[in-house]
Amino acid sequence: MRAAVEFSDAGGRGIGEASRVGTSTDDSVVPDTTTCCIVGCGPAGAMLGLMLARAGVDVVVLEKHADFFRDFRGDTVHASTLTVLDELGLIDRFARVPQQRTTAIAVMTDDGTTTMADFTGLPGKYPYITMVPQWDFLDFVTGEASRYPSFRLLRNAEAYGLITQDGAVRGVRYRDARGTHELRALLTVAADGRSSVLRRAAGLPVIELGAPMDVLWYRLPKTASDPPGSFARLTPGRILPMLDRGTYWQGAYTMPKGSFAELKARGIDALHQDLRQWLPFMADRVESITDWDDVGFLEVRMNRLRRWHRPGFLCIGDAAHAMSPVGGVGINMAVQDAVAAANALIGPLLAGQLTEDDLRAVQRRREFPTRMTQRMQRIMQRAMISPALEARHAAQLPTAARAALRVSLLRRLLSRLIGIGFRAEHVRDIRHAASPHAPKSRPIIGPSWRR
Ligand SMILES: Cc1cc2nc3c(=O)[nH]c(=O)nc-3n(C[C@H](O)[C@H](O)[C@H](O)COP(=O)(O)OP(=O)(O)OC[C@H]3O[C@@H](n4cnc5c(N)ncnc54)[C@H](O)[C@@H]3O)c2cc1C
Repeated sequence: MRAAVEFSDAGGRGIGEASRVGTSTDDSVVPDTTTCCIVGCGPAGAMLGLMLARAGVDVVVLEKHADFFRDFRGDTVHASTLTVLDELGLIDRFARVPQQRTTAIAVMTDDGTTTMADFTGLPGKYPYITMVPQWDFLDFVTGEASRYPSFRLLRNAEAYGLITQDGAVRGVRYRDARGTHELRALLTVAADGRSSVLRRAAGLPVIELGAPMDVLWYRLPKTASDPPGSFARLTPGRILPMLDRGTYWQGAYTMPKGSFAELKARGIDALHQDLRQWLPFMADRVESITDWDDVGFLEVRMNRLRRWHRPGFLCIGDAAHAMSPVGGVGINMAVQDAVAAANALIGPLLAGQLTEDDLRAVQRRREFPTRMTQRMQRIMQRAMISPALEARHAAQLPTAARAALRVSLLRRLLSRLIGIGFRAEHVRDIRHAASPHAPKSRPIIGPSWRR
């Protein structure tokens, strides 16, 4: 078979010298090879980049945006992620990033308020969730990664295709302000989110699981007389989760799938009216949402890949499995995937001996928690979300959900699902973790891809 791209032979000879790159986020030199190319610098890509660089693996992360400033992306840093930061020795520095703690989430109906999740009983050192704007979290993680000489983040760099050779993926094609480029790599990781261009390019089939709702995100100021803590308000036909962000509320307006166009046609006043009616303490402020540009629309999707890998190629995070917003678990899953991938792949990447079995091991490790979480989300969608969205009268918790929440074991399960997940990943001890002052490692793209 004719190769799409010519590669050097063993150990990346001749390539490492030509592509010697500066450290960190300096993009004055365009690299043409690396050991691991990660596409997408969301929670999954940033965390994997940090962990690989820390172990001395040469890594380039491509991010199509200039910065991380995207509103309404989910700002939860879960108990499991705090544990990972602790295991990486970063928890004290992370504590300096402005954040709020959430210890419980309640459901508010016309009947009163019921605790849905209580994180104070979680095992481990971090019995809470912290709320940190996602751009601060990503700035923190990439800032830490940039201390290692083998880490490189290229911003404004958009991947648009894969380089393949003899059936294996050997890197990506990307474009930036200077034009189009090829970046060859022993391993290419798609961490490019739920609309992943690369998983499509790799031809990996997706199993769609469906979701009954779509979500609008908005932000309103908070005052001292507002109810304390985060909660979800159940109303006839709507669910209104409210995340307490200290000085403001991050609100979600959950509606039946496909109904946003109808709401939009009724004008922004229709949204004001609903918020006034169902969250009366907000009545004096809803008009600070002046038009639809102040609102973020999330078309909810739930899916997962049947196969997360091809030779030389792996999907993680939302690129492997888009999660329903139920429980706000997407960021946790993305970070946990990154930790599992780093644990499984650091050795093979350092040795330049990557096999498809190594990639299969990552899917095997993470598929179970993905399936279980999605199963729980579907149960909650059926037991709570759909009945609430279909309700036309008094807003009560469906009987089954009320009974379930009374059973403390189920509440504990839910708290664990949100705070930690089904299988907690831990940073494997890396005996020879690279020092930030170590010389830059050479990219390894050979000796060859092995099936
Ligand atoms: C409105 C909204 C609210 C949410 N709320 C929560 C919440 O409260 N809690 C929670 O846990 N989860 C929440 N989520 C889900 C959560 O944001 C995702 O599950 C999580 O960010 C997935 O991380 P990721 O790294 O896999 O992908 P993403 O965070 O989607 O990151 C993908 C990155 O890849 C980049 N990219 C995409 N294509 C390319 C390309 N071709 N080339 C280069 N770069 C590319 C993108 O710019 C992006 O930076 C929310 C999601 C949305 C949309």
